[in-house]
Amino acid sequence: MFDSPLQESIIHKAQENGLIRIHIHNLRDYTEDRHRTADDTPYGGGAGMVMKVEPIAKAVETVTLGTGRTRTILTTPQGEVFSQETAQRLSRFDQLIILCGRYEGVDERVLSFVDEELSLGDYVLTGGELPSMVVIDTVARLVDGVVGDPASVEEDTFSNSLLKHPQYTRPNIFRGLEVPGVLVSGDHGRVREWRKTESLKKTLRRRPDLLEQAELSEEDKKLLEYIKKSEKLE
Ligand code: SAM
Repeated sequence: MFDSPLQESIIHKAQENGLIRIHIHNLRDYTEDRHRTADDTPYGGGAGMVMKVEPIAKAVETVTLGTGRTRTILTTPQGEVFSQETAQRLSRFDQLIILCGRYEGVDERVLSFVDEELSLGDYVLTGGELPSMVVIDTVARLVDGVVGDPASVEEDTFSNSLLKHPQYTRPNIFRGLEVPGVLVSGDHGRVREWRKTESLKKTLRRRPDLLEQAELSEEDKKLLEYIKKSEKLE
């Protein structure tokens, strides 16, 4: 499951350039019985299988580097919903150990050595592999040097709790739909102002909740008030 997504494009290059290292560990390698059992039936009965605590504990202890700061994360629909802010915080650790559940999930005692539980959202996936790859991808692009132009990360949606402004590329006119004139004006000051206005407008319309956390300059605040008035949203 991991091979293809982690061997493509930016994530692949980041590994080749030694900026990040990704290791996939099979929990069966940390079992001690002949059948390499990583799951068992739930105490008290009920549907499905539960992932055993011992192989997970042994795996975490074995792969912990012991140098630098390590964060052990459990993927679970019961965790805090993963966000750009969390990704930024995680990008400051030297090592992330991401545990992928399966079946009915993991033995609750796994939580005793997990630092945080992360969910992708309010839905249930088959396993933690996809969530862990989402975390890896999001955190990796925040590591210095992984994305060629740092400005593209800094201006991303959510980086300042705002949605990114609309973007266009050639052709100038597509089926009668024209690129806003200001973007082809060559006037960088006006382009900047237009982008900021559109970013605020989009956020106000689609995600007004984000504006409560946004760090806006006095100028941005005035602009936002003006947009609110002109859109009669107040
Ligand atoms: N029985 C569990 C429950 O009701 O909470 C769900 C288990 S789920 C089928 C199997 C595994 O997929 C979980 O242990 C977790 O690792 C992963 N998973 C499923 N949905 C997820 C989500 N929204 N976010 C993160 N991980 C998820």
